[in-house]
Amino acid sequence: MDASTALCATHPESPAEGTCSRCGTFLCERCRRWQAGRMLCLRCHKVVLGEKPSKRAMTALAFATLGFCGFVPGLVAIVLGHQELAAIRRGEAPGSGEGLAMLARNVGWFHLAMLVVVGVGLALRG
Ligand SMILES: [Zn+2]
Ligand SMILES: [Zn+2]
Repeated sequence: MDASTALCATHPESPAEGTCSRCGTFLCERCRRWQAGRMLCLRCHKVVLGEKPSKRAMTALAFATLGFCGFVPGLVAIVLGHQELAAIRRGEAPGSGEGLAMLARNVGWFHLAMLVVVGVGLALRG
């Protein structure tokens, strides 16, 4: 171990594998937690999980649900879900919205696929 190796804030015997993306604490492998691709300490992980999903995550899911009555709102869900996931990765939106945004985006893709299938079906029928 060279002198530049940082040590875990909780386990001084363990070398740090990285820092918490929220508070900057040095973390060893045992302390690391992952949320939406961000490394977090135990404490921040709890805080992030306790945050409410953003309005955009909820809206994306609402559009994804609406897509079941006509597919087209599903396209909005893809866009919103994608934007929300990008914002979560940048740390600008609460990580708790990740599941919602991902679900909205996936359901949106399903609607898009259905739209294509129905469109091709109609086109073939002439
Ligand atoms: Zn932290
Ligand atoms: Zn540790």
